[in-house]
Amino acid sequence: MINATGPKLNFGATEGLGPDKFTDSVCTFQHASHAWESLQKCFAKMEQGEKQRFLIGTGHPLATCQGAAFEYSLNVAFEINKRKLNHLAEITWISNEYELGDFGMGGAYIKRGGYITPTKIFAESIFKEYNIKWIVGAGVSKIEKGIAHYETLDGEYHTQEFDFAMLIPSFAGAGMKAYNKKDEEITADLFVPNGMMKVDAEYTPKVYEEWKASDWPSTYKSPLYDNIYAAGIAFAPPHPMSKPMKSKNGTQINPTPPRTGMPSGVIGRVVAMNIVDKIKSGTIEHKHKASMSKIGAACIVSAGYGIRHGQAAVMTVFPIVPDWEKYPKWGRDISYTVGEIGLAGHWMKLFMHYMFLYKAKANPLWWMIPE
Ligand SMILES: Cc1cc2nc3c(=O)[nH]c(=O)nc-3n(C[C@H](O)[C@H](O)[C@H](O)COP(=O)(O)OP(=O)(O)OC[C@H]3O[C@@H](n4cnc5c(N)ncnc54)[C@H](O)[C@@H]3O)c2cc1C
Repeated sequence: MINATGPKLNFGATEGLGPDKFTDSVCTFQHASHAWESLQKCFAKMEQGEKQRFLIGTGHPLATCQGAAFEYSLNVAFEINKRKLNHLAEITWISNEYELGDFGMGGAYIKRGGYITPTKIFAESIFKEYNIKWIVGAGVSKIEKGIAHYETLDGEYHTQEFDFAMLIPSFAGAGMKAYNKKDEEITADLFVPNGMMKVDAEYTPKVYEEWKASDWPSTYKSPLYDNIYAAGIAFAPPHPMSKPMKSKNGTQINPTPPRTGMPSGVIGRVVAMNIVDKIKSGTIEHKHKASMSKIGAACIVSAGYGIRHGQAAVMTVFPIVPDWEKYPKWGRDISYTVGEIGLAGHWMKLFMHYMFLYKAKANPLWWMIPE
């Protein structure tokens, strides 16, 4: 059995959050389509000369998936710019990251144009270019109509008004219950309290300074059952990648670790290949491994749609989880940790869009398309 149920979008963890309350989301097709409708209403008001405030980012002190929200903020800015309505727009990024460019992976140093740049500078320069303000170290705690309440790491409580808000909720596991053969409930043995599944990770609580690359799982097998696995967002990470932070009031405000598309796909493939081997040989060997501290990830952050005027930021990191023992200088292999922004990135994103849909439909030779 492979549990690959992804995240439960836990809107309930933040009062007033979500498409059926006061904010939009882009975490499902329906949400994204609804958000686009809300945006059209804002654009219509701006065309009548009305100023609009856009708030985009994370909607919970421990939310993840900053990359998707970051991408969305750039696309909103691009669409406003395309309509020449910039003078009527105020776009604000709000996030639980300690600094911009953390992306839930503790930030990164990237090779760019011959220089080594922290993702903080990379992200800040993109936001400057797109005229987006930012609030970081912010834990959104409650939403009212047009008002987001949040606490910052310095312990202060603030509000931010908005006409449109797209805030990513916290993620939980799918909420499955587990029973053994005697029909006794064993949910707490198989899952961590937020419903994500325990696998072959090192879950002993550790302080940040003691985190190790080897804490991260590589086969994704349940420690209790040899025939149960969890792939993608469904598995419980051993700890965050970003340094845990607490506000002066004791509220934890930091991103939880992302498991983006590429690692989720690679993990799914490795789990499947090990099961195939098990069926064929009758023995459990787990020859195929995919620890996030040993594999890389590529991500193309769309920053505007259009064959001639589109843009996207292409980022690769290797490995995903920094390994300061193996790469003491930069935490990652700097030859494979790169970032560039430009039109070619948009073409790549568009190409991948069709390629992955082709693969998802299992059309001829689908298996040759990598994750
Ligand atoms: C707007 C947005 C943009 C993103 N952009 C990027 C990007 O550019 N690059 C990137 O690498 N990643 C990106 N991501 C992240 C990426 O989409 C996820 O990391 C990836 O989809 C996780 O894969 P998964 O298989 O774990 O979960 P999912 O893709 O969420 O799949 C889980 C599946 O399980 C199903 N399911 C849930 N519960 C049950 C149940 N009880 N029974 C049966 N089925 C169930 C769900 O319906 C779903 O189909 C983005 C995410 C968002 C929201």
